Amino acid sequence: MMMDIIVIGAGPAGLIAALRAADLGARTVLVTRAEFGGMAANDGPVPVRTLAHAARLIREARQLGQYGIGVGEPVLDYSCLLARVREVVDEVRAHSSLRAQIDSLGVTVYEHAGVARFADAHTIECESGPRLHAEKIIICAGGVSRRLSVPGCELTSTHSDAWKLTSIPQSMLVIGAGATGVQVASIFNAFGSRVQLYQTGPRILPSEDEDVSAAVSEAFRESGIVVHENFGVIESFEKTPTGVRMIFSKNGDRGSAEAALTVLAVGWVADTAGLSLANAGVNTNHRGFVQVDEYQQTSKPHIFAAGDITGRLMLVPQATQEGFVAATNAVRGPKVTIGEPITPIGSFTDPEYAQVGLTEAKARETHDIVTAIVRFDSTTRTIIDGRKAGFCKLIVDRKTFSMLGCHVVGERAVEITQVAAIAIAAGMRVNELAHIPLSFPTYAGILARVAASAARKLNLEVSWQANQAESAWLSSEKTKRGAGKES
Ligand SMILES: Cc1cc2nc3c(=O)[nH]c(=O)nc-3n(C[C@H](O)[C@H](O)[C@H](O)COP(=O)(O)OP(=O)(O)OC[C@H]3O[C@@H](n4cnc5c(N)ncnc54)[C@H](O)[C@@H]3O)c2cc1C
Repeated sequence: MMMDIIVIGAGPAGLIAALRAADLGARTVLVTRAEFGGMAANDGPVPVRTLAHAARLIREARQLGQYGIGVGEPVLDYSCLLARVREVVDEVRAHSSLRAQIDSLGVTVYEHAGVARFADAHTIECESGPRLHAEKIIICAGGVSRRLSVPGCELTSTHSDAWKLTSIPQSMLVIGAGATGVQVASIFNAFGSRVQLYQTGPRILPSEDEDVSAAVSEAFRESGIVVHENFGVIESFEKTPTGVRMIFSKNGDRGSAEAALTVLAVGWVADTAGLSLANAGVNTNHRGFVQVDEYQQTSKPHIFAAGDITGRLMLVPQATQEGFVAATNAVRGPKVTIGEPITPIGSFTDPEYAQVGLTEAKARETHDIVTAIVRFDSTTRTIIDGRKAGFCKLIVDRKTFSMLGCHVVGERAVEITQVAAIAIAAGMRVNELAHIPLSFPTYAGILARVAASAARKLNLEVSWQANQAESAWLSSEKTKRGAGKES
């Protein structure tokens, strides 16, 4: 039977695309290789966040003594933790209403259908499922870890191999210090592995603000992670009696490093391998991702794509937005676009870091800016909680007083940045944010402080609020001791 829409892939992008298409009245089929939920539910944020929560509990357990609570040194049982990961994944799935909504809208779902491929531009064949025909097709097949084509690469692991480990490796090389690499390094360092983090470029987290990279790198080093920037070019990997050795070269010199486990986190590529895109005439771009325009339309006007497979931000909220837009356009014709949304991004490392908007370097390219920084060791809540490492940095346009970017390192950085994102998305001026009496003593309260600091630099009037009162009190205490902390 000819359907209206086939959606390939039941990750966040595909689920929302199927839901939206069916909601608009299209006869919709959703076909996916394995479990419902895709990488986000089964191998990405949900399980990795559970490991990160365990790492947080370990560091919080170590703090108990500071508050007069006596328990021994925390001991991790990794197999128990993996059982908890499975429990969380199952519970998240059980509490998701998406499946029920999809079923109630009459979407036909083929789970565990194996790899789906284009037989022609309107026909999808599944490895262990049906042959399907539709007017329109939406590709939401996600991505996979990039592998390196050097000898011995098969000896390395990816973040997914964490689920197969039976115990914590004594030592670990993590290759690549983007969002995934730093999370793996931070979590396994907390679990007791001796971690070395290797980055090809001059700084870890290269897409973050430079102050953020520097602060996370310093904190990592203090916590025992050995960070190697500019380490050179990998030549090969080889097996050793206890693990894996990486051979690399730099400026003609050869070096090596070895550990029980080597984790590659060198990027994320589109999962196009099994799709036979050529049979449908769908083009990929120079990075290998499915090429789409602002309507999520591919080079074939009746085929759309959404989520990681398009290679844009590669995060869950963006995947769902793209899925919604792709399905709307597939059913109604290409009319809606995502535009340029404000996108908060963050990671649950120790310390956490997060950003929204432009980095200072990017903002300087196009704007005349003012920056303000408030350090965590000058706010009441962080002192109460004994979490004084970190800062909040705000970047403001000197002419319009609009906030261009906010960057946070430290406890609850990701949550603080959500509040900043709402203020930026609402188009608030910096002095307007400074005037909001955010609750005291909170982590997010730092935003009013940093906004007030930027507003003062811009000679804007700032009223006397609890947060500024806190600021004044703390800085008078510090002036007595000769250490001002706001800039
Ligand atoms: C370690 C890690 C941590 C992350 N943490 C976060 C985070 O904290 N926050 C966040 O927002 N994002 C995070 N992400 C990113 C997030 O998981 C992805 O952006 C999101 O899952 C993308 O959704 P998607 O629907 O495009 O693809 P996916 O979730 O990858 O789903 C694609 C689906 O398509 C199926 N499929 C693929 N090919 C075929 C085929 N040929 N036939 C049939 N089915 C197919 C796959 O089996 C899969 O089910 C993380 C990713 C990783 C790796």
